[in-house]
Amino acid sequence: MKYTSTRGDRTERGFSDILLEGLAPDGGLYLPTQYPKVDAATLAKWRTLPYHELAFEILSLFIDDVPPADLKRLVTRTYTSEVFGTKEITPLKPLEDGLKLEALSNGPTLAFKDMAMQLLGNLFEYELGRRGESLNILGATSGDTGSAAEYAMRGKKGVNVFMLSPHGRMSAFQQAQMFSLQDPNIHNIAVEGVFDDCQDIVKAVSNDLAFKRRHKIGTVNSINWARLLAQVVYYFAGYFQATQSNDEVVSFAVPSGNFGNICAGHVARSMGLPIKRLVLATNENDVLDEFFKTGTYRVRGSAETHETSSPSMDISKASNFERFVFDLLGRDGARTKQLFKTDVEDHGSFTLSAEEFKRIQNYGFVSGRSTHADRLATIRDTWQRFGVMIDTHTADGLKVAREHAEPGVPMIVLETALPAKFADTIVEAIGRQPDRPAATVGIEQLPKRFQVMRVDAEAVKAFIAENA
Ligand SMILES: *Cc1c(COP(=O)(O)O)cnc(C)c1O
Repeated sequence: MKYTSTRGDRTERGFSDILLEGLAPDGGLYLPTQYPKVDAATLAKWRTLPYHELAFEILSLFIDDVPPADLKRLVTRTYTSEVFGTKEITPLKPLEDGLKLEALSNGPTLAFKDMAMQLLGNLFEYELGRRGESLNILGATSGDTGSAAEYAMRGKKGVNVFMLSPHGRMSAFQQAQMFSLQDPNIHNIAVEGVFDDCQDIVKAVSNDLAFKRRHKIGTVNSINWARLLAQVVYYFAGYFQATQSNDEVVSFAVPSGNFGNICAGHVARSMGLPIKRLVLATNENDVLDEFFKTGTYRVRGSAETHETSSPSMDISKASNFERFVFDLLGRDGARTKQLFKTDVEDHGSFTLSAEEFKRIQNYGFVSGRSTHADRLATIRDTWQRFGVMIDTHTADGLKVAREHAEPGVPMIVLETALPAKFADTIVEAIGRQPDRPAATVGIEQLPKRFQVMRVDAEAVKAFIAENA
């Protein structure tokens, strides 16, 4: 399987070439040159596989430059009940008739990002070892991504993590999760500023190409193809659990921000998994809901980007969205480039032609939005009726899922985080503290290891140079 860019550069690269990369050189995103098709016989064979074997089968279709025995070992080591809590890895929880949650957030940081990031940690260590190279991962986080990256990379050979976060602005729980890590290859830098300051420092360091090359600076952001690919697996796993036979169709509802999670659903559907609808849910930051309703994609400025109680969906633009649009446009790289490079950069938006917009129907996408009041109501209702406590992001997904439920089509709502991460809103909704998974009880009391620094890219560079 080869990979090319969404912006017209036809250079073909192997999986291992793009594993450690971010954007393609022309500024586009990598996609496989075609999606492997899965027929009925294959689906039947996969239905009964344990998660790690299913993951191996799916990944093998996209990765042909890692020896199968090595890939199998990496995947088997990643998806264990010790790390993810159950032997199903992503078990379903029934709510009302025809509707189920798929639990994706029982990994070490209690959010679905562990599903992909844990694999990425093992793939990075393997590939760097094979090349005899090392990598210094630099990132900025306001919570979920940074902790998932740190728990995936801790103790990995050849990898250091330098993670910037806004000093004193994360929740006590999030700080404890990250800062209690004592692994020498994990470096937490608490910046005396806001999240945007952290991101600006990452940009400044990455724009110093000489420094970047000398210290082998890399990232693990959501545009990484391997992260997206790892997420394809749980759409299959959810389908097999929700159905008896491969003649049935299901729909998935996905709390969305950067469009990585639901893009994996689009890939699974393109491979032939019988998905009827991909229901995209946003919070008040409704860039994507607006697009699927109108055909206009308009990125928001920071003044228009709301801080909400489902913070991991607070985006101004959706970094993986270009992948879907490329497919929608019949894989026309020139047109994709015009929309995302010229139109978005010059005017902050694009609008599809009527003919292009009509094609969305062929891809199963529908959308909706949810507000803080909706989240509170949905969390309260789910608790009262089913005794199930859900987090704020999952609540957005569930609210929009119900608006698109159809009789006879099971609806699977992806649970993207556990309520323990968002205690304040849970208390506001139901008047009690969320349950804590045993492994996280008392983490606030553990010794913390972090470095406080001013908003100063040069100081961060010096720190990296000293500790890389
Ligand atoms: C990252 C995240 C999302 C959004 O996922 P995307 O892949 O960016 O669309 C939703 N919920 C939670 C809890 C997250 O951490």
